[in-house]
This record gives sequence, structure tokens and C-alpha cells, in this order.
Amino acid sequence: MEKEEKISILQEIVRINSVNGNEGEVAEYLKQLLNRHGIEGKIVSYSDGRDNLVASFENGYQKKVLGLSGHMDVVSAGDESAWTYPPFAAEIQENRLYGRGTTDMKSGLAAMVIAMIELKESGQTFNGTVKLLATVGEEIGELGSEQLTKEGYVDDLDGLIIGEPTNYNLMYTHMGSINYTVISYGKEAHSSMPQEGYNAINHLNEFITRVNEKMNRIAEEFQNPVLGQPIHNITVISGGNQVNSIPSQARLQGNIRSIPEFSNEKTIALLQKIINELNEGAKYQLELKIDYNKIPVKADPDSHLICCIQEQFEQPLPLVGAAGTTDAAEFTKSSHAFDFVVFGPGVVTLPHQINEYVEIDNYLEMIDKYQAIILSYLA
Ligand SMILES: [Zn+2]
Repeated sequence: MEKEEKISILQEIVRINSVNGNEGEVAEYLKQLLNRHGIEGKIVSYSDGRDNLVASFENGYQKKVLGLSGHMDVVSAGDESAWTYPPFAAEIQENRLYGRGTTDMKSGLAAMVIAMIELKESGQTFNGTVKLLATVGEEIGELGSEQLTKEGYVDDLDGLIIGEPTNYNLMYTHMGSINYTVISYGKEAHSSMPQEGYNAINHLNEFITRVNEKMNRIAEEFQNPVLGQPIHNITVISGGNQVNSIPSQARLQGNIRSIPEFSNEKTIALLQKIINELNEGAKYQLELKIDYNKIPVKADPDSHLICCIQEQFEQPLPLVGAAGTTDAAEFTKSSHAFDFVVFGPGVVTLPHQINEYVEIDNYLEMIDKYQAIILSYLA
């Protein structure tokens, strides 16, 4: 495929506005593109207008399967007037292609799709199957990878590359993420007669004191050599109706970035224990809801997959970890274990910012690297 066509494919998918939705249009575009080059794709619908895409082709005799995955949604462009280049115009300035999703992560996705097409057209032989998993809703809960995992689409994988931006680093581990809500139920009364009610804000405050103390202690006790300490923050709080009324309800939300050394399961059990202790014998009630639960992941840094990638570069790429979560948090929930790594074009610090861009050279090089990695892994 000509260089110009590779660039224009990326421009076209950046121009499809898929801010937290509308991935169906991206999936359809990629499906037709693959189809024109003899690769069958299958739409796996999540909801109206939101479709995952699974596409694969095989060669040779062995059964080894290498997955390539990218998400099709992007985050909001925010204040579009703050952008120098409009977020959905996919404008090019010198070596940079600007737009929402260029780094995170339509360049990784396009590079994977084009690598498959070029490999198919080149007629080079290898042994196994290359399988594309393009997902919906990664940014708001890893919805597509959760669905594909539950429906068995990753059960045949031996290896998986997620093309999120890592800028020539190999990300083999990342933190988990838990979002939770605590609702405090009290009893309303006039503020001159607080004894007639139960103050929901005060009870929530007791929770805050205890959870901060416990989570700080856990952060001191459990650390990961690459990811560091678990992180806990209460980030949203609300409650009460009127300044002269004892509040009958208050709520907060918190976020925890978890590490393998102190699992999500243990973390959630700890939150519940605090709630149970505070509720015991009390007339008020605190209630815990887990809104989002993504596990921390860790791959083998010496896996065959990582060796096949390292072999493509003169200097070994740094092996890194990150605080942010990826679709790996859902894919690795499969009962079938496989090697994985996060490796894709784009600048690590740019996702979710204005004037997001990808360097065109980086994008084009990754198309070649993905092909070389596939050939080596499925040799
Ligand atoms: Zn991403």
C-alpha cells in the first residue's frame, strides 16, 4: 500500500467522530477496508450504533493465534475553540497529523489493520492466525473488551498486542482502577433540633476519616517495584438540601488505582468492612456501590511475544508500567491465559489533551514493525 493511502486511512477514521460512542461507523469503515483486501470481518454489536469488529486471517498449519487490539472510541475534544487544528479535521502539519484520537488510539488501530492487509497481500508465509479485536467504549469502562471476553473471542489467543500509545516502550504491566460510591442515609430534622434526625454528612465524614487512614496504611505496606504504591482519592462529594436542615442524604465517590500486590477483591472487601463496622448498631446507614472494577495486569516481561518485538529493534525497548488502565484489564479476565503487551504509536503524554497528534513517521514505522512482529511470532 502506498504511503499516501496509509495516511489517508488514518485521516478518514479520525474524521469519524466517535466520542464515547458511534464506533459502529469506524467498525464499518474498517470492515469494508479489510474486505476489499480479502479479509473477512465480523461485527459484534454492543448497542445501537456501537459495534466491535473482529477480523482474522490464517496462514500455514499451526494453530497459534496472535491478537491485535485497539479501541475505536475517543474522549471528548473539550473546548474545540482551544484547538489550533480542529479536532476532527485530521490536518497535517509537517510530520504531525492532528486530531482527537490520533494518538489515543486510531493510529495504533489503523497501523494494525494496514499491517494485516499488507501481510495478506505480500503473500508471505507464516504459521497461525492474526486476529483483530477492535473495541467500543474503552474510555468509559472497557465495554467492548468486556463483551468480547465474555463471548469467548479471546479464548483462542496465544498472544495479544494492544496498540495504545507507548512511544517505543513496552508496557507489560498497569494498575487497576476501582470507582466506588458511598451513600449515607440519615434522617431530616430542623437544624435547631438535631437530636430528632441523623446527620448523613457527619456519618459520611466518619467513613472518609477511616478509609483515608486504612488506604494510607496499605499504600505504605504494599508496593510494586514498577507501579509504585496503590493510590486512593475521594474525588466527588455532595449532600444536604438546605442550610437549616439536618441532611438526610449525602454521597461521595472515590477512585482507587490498585496494584497486583493488593488485589481489587481485597480492596473492595476492605471498603465493605469499614462500612459494616460503621453501620453496626447505628441508626443511620452507609451503603457501598462499586461502579467500576478493573483489575491490575502484569504480563511476563520475558515472554516469547516480547522477545519477538525486541528482536525488531537495535536497542532493547524499555519495559514499563503505567497507572492508566487498558482493555487488557478485561481481556486478561479470560480463563485462558495468554501473553500480552501494550505497544503502539503515539506520544504517551498526549492522550486526552488539546492538539493531540501523532508523528506520521512513527505511525508508518509501526505498520512495518507490526508485520515483522507477526511474522516472527507466527514463524
Ligand atoms: Zn486509549
